[in-house]
Amino acid sequence: MESDMSKIILGPMDGVAKYLPSDSVVIITDNNVRKYYGEKFPNAEIIEIEAGEEIKTLKTVESIYQQLLSLEADRSWFVLGIGGGVVTDIAGFVASTYMRGIEFGFIPTTFLAQVDASIGGKNGVNLRGYKNIIGTIRQPKFILCDTGLLKTLPKNEIKNGFVEVIKHAAIGNAKLFSLLEKNHETALLLDDNIIKKIVHDSIKVKTTIVKKDETEKLERMKLNFGHTIGHAIEKITHVPHGEAIAVGMVAECKLFSSMGLVKSEDTGRLENLIKLYGLPTAIRCMKSDIAETIRKDKKRRNNNVILPVLNGIGKCRLVDIELNKLEAAINDMC
Ligand code: ADP
Ligand code: ZN
Repeated sequence: MESDMSKIILGPMDGVAKYLPSDSVVIITDNNVRKYYGEKFPNAEIIEIEAGEEIKTLKTVESIYQQLLSLEADRSWFVLGIGGGVVTDIAGFVASTYMRGIEFGFIPTTFLAQVDASIGGKNGVNLRGYKNIIGTIRQPKFILCDTGLLKTLPKNEIKNGFVEVIKHAAIGNAKLFSLLEKNHETALLLDDNIIKKIVHDSIKVKTTIVKKDETEKLERMKLNFGHTIGHAIEKITHVPHGEAIAVGMVAECKLFSSMGLVKSEDTGRLENLIKLYGLPTAIRCMKSDIAETIRKDKKRRNNNVILPVLNGIGKCRLVDIELNKLEAAINDMC
């Protein structure tokens, strides 16, 4: 698959050598991924970090800069990030800032990273509890997705990754949505043909949107479907991101259904699909807490929020809504 921004390749990891534009390559990976797949890595220097979201800090970034200096890495070097979303975020940020930016590429190894996190050029780290508050938007040279790597992932990681796939299908590809409905069993078992198609189509939805709007002026906001309420739920209940967004997508649809903006039939299909993938569609938490968290989140902007609203399955539009109205609607929701 070609895009203006990055070359996106579906293929085996051991074929990566032909995409490397330089002989001087440094791999950034985490200890887990290296344990599983280190033997398949191309010949290169390796900088290893620990696994986990807690490592996404400026401290880790500084330590990587120091190791790059020790390696005497200059602008001709190429950074290859091999790992999940944490690794690709850090590797992309380091490469975008070291010596004012050197080239980089990714081999995303989690389902979430393949279908979502590594795509789109956003990368960065957390600071004082603010997620991705420091970062850059810069596109990797290539993203190589090897679906064979997904076999070693815990079941929960797969399930949670499907949430963003369902999101992409709902906002941008009705055929993918039907495919997910029809093939949920084989998809969850990571059947190679199905999963390749799913990863391909999911990436396509995201890149098409990002291409129109790299820096999130408007179009890119469509990718926030389910994330306004979902992020609030994630903050309040600390459930995994995927689960929170699954609930968020259904809640947003129901909310807009009650305003007459979304057909209840579409909400029903979405709810059903989420269930087929073993994901939650509702969660116990105070509606007033959700409204309050959204208000706090958006405070820095103004009194309106722009929300993606399904225009039937596979299509989506952006609606500008007053925060007060949104809060009232959330409180009225049953
Ligand atoms: P994401 O944000 O994409 O879900 P993370 O970078 O937080 O991913 O990785 C989640 C966990 O999965 C980490 O512990 C990581 O080391 C591990 N991991 C990454 N890829 C694989 C893989 N292919 N098989 C098994 N574990 C993996
Ligand atoms: Zn998400």
